[in-house]
Amino acid sequence: MSTTVNIVCPHCTATNRLPQDKPAGAARCGACHRPLFSGHPAAVDGAALDKHRRANDIPVLVDVWAPWCGPCRAMAPMFDAAATQLEPSVRLLKLNADDHQPTSAALGVSGIPALLLFQHGELIARNAGAMDARNIIAWTRRELGQAA
Ligand code: ZN
Repeated sequence: MSTTVNIVCPHCTATNRLPQDKPAGAARCGACHRPLFSGHPAAVDGAALDKHRRANDIPVLVDVWAPWCGPCRAMAPMFDAAATQLEPSVRLLKLNADDHQPTSAALGVSGIPALLLFQHGELIARNAGAMDARNIIAWTRRELGQAA
């Protein structure tokens, strides 16, 4: 029986062990003292993404994008809006496919924007193409088996 939940800090990638019955949305990182949830997606590189996948007890939703990609830029504020709704039960991250090509390739991303959903380190769902905030939230909750 687990009474704590592991949350990886989006700023310093320290793993924080939080009591399950305390609201995670208000928690601060024990290492860097910044809020664990800000309502915004956190930019990650390959190493940080790997840490988030492996150490988080909550699901991890990754937006793979690139600066030259029009649909990616159009989806960015939608992904931001989705973060305010999905946090703190889901961690939202952004991976720049141009800056982190080996990571993007290893994840099998062939077109962007792409959404990748991980739970307990495993890729459980992926979606290609832009979605609005409502659909990002609904898709994520559906794939996680939660009521949308
Ligand atoms: Zn931290």
